[in-house]
Amino acid sequence: LICALCNSTEFTAKYNSVADYEYASYHPIDFVQCKHCSLIFQEPLPNVDEISSFYPDSYRNYLPLGSGIFTLLKKMRFKNQAKKISKLLDDKNSRILEIGYGNGQLLMALKDLGYQDLSGIDFDDKAKSMLESCGIKVSIDNAEKNISFEGNFDYVILNNVIEHFLNPFAVLSNCFDKLNPGAKVILLTPNSSGYDAEIFGKYWAGLHSPRHTFLFNGHNLKLLANKIGFTQVDICSEQDAAQWAISFQNFLQANKIDKSRLKNGLAWYTIFVSVACSPIELLQNLLGNSASLMAIFKK
Ligand SMILES: [Zn+2]
Repeated sequence: LICALCNSTEFTAKYNSVADYEYASYHPIDFVQCKHCSLIFQEPLPNVDEISSFYPDSYRNYLPLGSGIFTLLKKMRFKNQAKKISKLLDDKNSRILEIGYGNGQLLMALKDLGYQDLSGIDFDDKAKSMLESCGIKVSIDNAEKNISFEGNFDYVILNNVIEHFLNPFAVLSNCFDKLNPGAKVILLTPNSSGYDAEIFGKYWAGLHSPRHTFLFNGHNLKLLANKIGFTQVDICSEQDAAQWAISFQNFLQANKIDKSRLKNGLAWYTIFVSVACSPIELLQNLLGNSASLMAIFKK
């Protein structure tokens, strides 16, 4: 076994037998951690043709938004995320690509903010026609293999998706090749060194087993960017109160404390726990050990 990031051959068993606590889609998984760069990954990695079975029809990140309080909160979240990301974007005519757009809500929120030239890639086509009807260009493809758009981009956004790929290195290399000089990758991912990861262990929502293959921290994200050839790397703290709530839910589900059935991978109380955890999240950010990270890689 060789670390795909730093070529080390020394590992520790990090999390053993991590079940899919949210969707029960697959058998429990073991994660190892590289002793040198602290990259965490599934060992063994899943087979490429098993991946689609990890995303059942009820997988919440692909569901179209319905109505009601959950939708309102979700929409608010995407809107805030788009606003945050827009602070990093130069002008409304920038050419922007989102990889793994899921239900398409971030692209829609960017559209609402006035961004004109938006494109997206996902291997699932559920949101395709909705996005295309709004003038957003869509490609149904695996960014690991190919980014099938003509020309280069000013920004590539990866919003909690890099940790889903079998080969995140190939994805970022492909992004690098499709960026104009000076252009940026904006990447969000769970922080494998965050306090919540330490507290919850194998129940940590960031593992999202079996869907998350590689888990990063600030240190190895920098290593990754440098290895691919990005010239400048910035890593910032990012909040994700849902991560606390889902970690808590995973713990209750796994230990049969909560016997209620999950809907779309969520328990009835998780949204309330997530609101209640917001202050903890803020504190975690202040202490510099956030639940999530935002990385900006400049070519
Ligand atoms: Zn390593």
